[in-house]
Amino acid sequence: MVLTVRLQTISLITPRKGLQHMASAFSSRRTSRPTSRPGVRSFSPNNRSNRSGNRGAAYIHPSKFINKAVAAADEVIYESKHQFSDFPFNSVLAQNIVRKGYVTPSAIQDQTIPYILDGKDVIGLANTGTGKTAAFVLPIIERLSNNGLQPSVLIMAPTRELAQQIDEEFRTFASGMKLFSTIVVGGMNIERQIRDLKRHPHVVIGTPGRLKDLMNRRALDLSFISTLVLDEADRMLDMGFINDIKTILAQTPSNRQTLFFSATITPTIQTLVQQFLNDPITVSVRTAETSEHVEQDIVQTNSKEEKLDRLVEMLGESEYEKVLIFGETKYGVQRLSDHLTKVGHPSAAIHGNKSQSQRQKALNSFKKHEVKVLVATDVAARGLDIPNVSHVINFDQPATYEDYIHRIGRTGRGGAKGKALTFVSHR
Ligand code: AMP
Repeated sequence: MVLTVRLQTISLITPRKGLQHMASAFSSRRTSRPTSRPGVRSFSPNNRSNRSGNRGAAYIHPSKFINKAVAAADEVIYESKHQFSDFPFNSVLAQNIVRKGYVTPSAIQDQTIPYILDGKDVIGLANTGTGKTAAFVLPIIERLSNNGLQPSVLIMAPTRELAQQIDEEFRTFASGMKLFSTIVVGGMNIERQIRDLKRHPHVVIGTPGRLKDLMNRRALDLSFISTLVLDEADRMLDMGFINDIKTILAQTPSNRQTLFFSATITPTIQTLVQQFLNDPITVSVRTAETSEHVEQDIVQTNSKEEKLDRLVEMLGESEYEKVLIFGETKYGVQRLSDHLTKVGHPSAAIHGNKSQSQRQKALNSFKKHEVKVLVATDVAARGLDIPNVSHVINFDQPATYEDYIHRIGRTGRGGAKGKALTFVSHR
């Protein structure tokens, strides 16, 4: 099966201890969809930049927010070695995959599924949007369903939203197989989570802080974990979860299978990997900087009032179909969202002051086009898979250029045109 992809950069990983087996190291991005057939969902990667834990640069020169010469794509072919029908999945799982419309595995799926099925430890260097969720969910379901894997599986993710997305994917693919999952994340009723854990679900999906909390309350026994997944490990470290992660890992059996997904390999991540993974296979499908295919510009204003007026004016233009706006503070984000709704641009907000169900509701209404504007803080928006965002607007500037690249990677996905606008004040 042939997919058209756009080759960006070759990311070479030097072999080092703990990263001995390298299945493949390349970076690719598709710019055109594979043959679309009715009912067949084509894979559409999210072109997100590499993200590192290096933070700190306070001032970003406005010229970095401008890119009017959007790069043309060089078409190259990524040839997937498998189709989903080639994998030895049981018939119910295979049917669920067909029903979901997946035909051709994405690069990360193509290259990791055989190893994960084999029980190997895997390091997947992949951004959100490359299909990495199914890359680990599908072989885990297969291994659970044929009892090759005892319950249970523990999946750690940085945010509640990502945990929710993983759970949704698990439930879709495990439908009709009597496999159960539960989510344990902060901001939700812990007593209910304790009750859910007592029912011994096959898969527990959680954020590190809540998992540790449950461990301390002796509500979560990790001595039966046979497979452990760390999703978006770099984000979890960015968010200060390193000690929680180490404590959790140390409580799981040493003969577990460990699947480690990250967009970057920093020295801290390398140490983690060396300490906790056993003879891992490394597969990299990282994309390099994504900024050059997103049209970027700045919007200069003189005052707060002018900034707000300009934003409202822009949202009134027809091309602003689905707009993700980034603000700096939880309070500011909520206030901006309320204001936009009041002046006729229905808007939802996600930030850390909202409960999980409120955040999920806001996200769903944006995804379903019930509101055309979503206002978010960086942390709340991390790792989200939101298709067809026409514009990213940085109402408040990001703290670092890394954050900027991460924000604007939400638009212009799968080769679609994207626009990013950043408000700067006259100095
Ligand atoms: P992820 O990187 O796991 O967040 O996936 C990004 C998006 O691609 C999600 O909406 C998935 O449902 C979708 N997706 C993942 N793998 C495939 C595939 N092989 N074919 C079609 N869509 C896919």
